[in-house]
Amino acid sequence: MKNIILTGDRPTGRLHIGHYVGSLRRRVELQNSGNFDKIYIMIADAQALTDNFDNPDKVRANITEVALDYLACGLDPAKSTLFVQSHVAELTELAFYYMNLVTLARLERNPTVKAEIKQKNFELSIPTGFLTYPISQAADITAFKANVVPVGDDQLPMIEQAREIVRSFNGLYGETLVEPKAVLPSNKACLRLPGTDGKAKMSKSLGNCIYLSDSPEEIKRKVMSMYTDPNHIKVTDPGNTSENPTFLYLEAFSTEEHFAKYLPEYANLNELKAHYERGGLGDMKVKKLLNAVLQETLEPIRLRREELAKDIPAIWDMLYKGSEKAKAAAAETLAEVKKAMKIDYFANRQ
Ligand code: ATP
Ligand code: MG
Repeated sequence: MKNIILTGDRPTGRLHIGHYVGSLRRRVELQNSGNFDKIYIMIADAQALTDNFDNPDKVRANITEVALDYLACGLDPAKSTLFVQSHVAELTELAFYYMNLVTLARLERNPTVKAEIKQKNFELSIPTGFLTYPISQAADITAFKANVVPVGDDQLPMIEQAREIVRSFNGLYGETLVEPKAVLPSNKACLRLPGTDGKAKMSKSLGNCIYLSDSPEEIKRKVMSMYTDPNHIKVTDPGNTSENPTFLYLEAFSTEEHFAKYLPEYANLNELKAHYERGGLGDMKVKKLLNAVLQETLEPIRLRREELAKDIPAIWDMLYKGSEKAKAAAAETLAEVKKAMKIDYFANRQ
């Protein structure tokens, strides 16, 4: 069997440090590992429209933003196919057939979708397109015969749904589709990076993000006003590190080299944590370290991004070529699916 990756992001905003640790950093490693036959990275504009159908300008504008973030982080169009979902109409066709294999009750049970319905105030009237986006995501994954999907942990219910669809399709129509598996970040703090406001997830839709493209001043301002442990009032108070986003960010980003460089009185994060938990360590010191670590990590990404942003037509050109390539691959799978479903009436005429 071939080793194929499909993953992607919704063009609902610029990408943030949650995307970086949850998925982007890993993708670049996997891309450069040479262990994969094909890598598809999708900008999920059609999915973004399921809850942004009233704001097509936002979705359109963010396609280039996400593409710039990708390239700035090291995704390389020579090694990975970067494409736009809506250009590949075959994906919509696949989703239509998969809909027969999923019940409404099953869709309504999806915990990520449930949480998003609440977050978006869709409780009273859920757009059908939104409720069914996990089916469309199954189409995206299976169209490329992807076996590996690197994602953050909010995506696990989607991958589970895709696996069920594959089993059900193959059971009914014969072995055609490949069952995917999710690859999660190995570091626990990266599974779901919290927001700067302490909310459970940093999310473009919640406005609690540090973006990969933020200026040094913005990064500093956001770090300095971050939510910490509300019960750590005086410096001498013992503090909590396990639900404190400043420590979770350090968990996701800091290395021993950072400590040696910026805070040499501690050898590593464990020593810093122990001090905070005992009491006697102020939030300011932690935030200053975090700011230094983030500045160092994000600077090269931001500089590359500024260079790339000077030629937006080249970005669209790259996306067009990738989208055509993705379309050809999806068309092959669609032909197999139609054959398996016995609706390939005109296949021989083409
Ligand atoms: P939206 O609010 O529009 O849903 P989002 O910030 O959740 O945006 P997505 O485009 O939905 O971003 O997610 C893209 C990928 O990034 C997914 O694999 C998701 O699991 C991962 N991801 C998103 N937010 C985080 C986070 N805070 N921590 C870790 N991974 C994340
Ligand atoms: Mg999301």
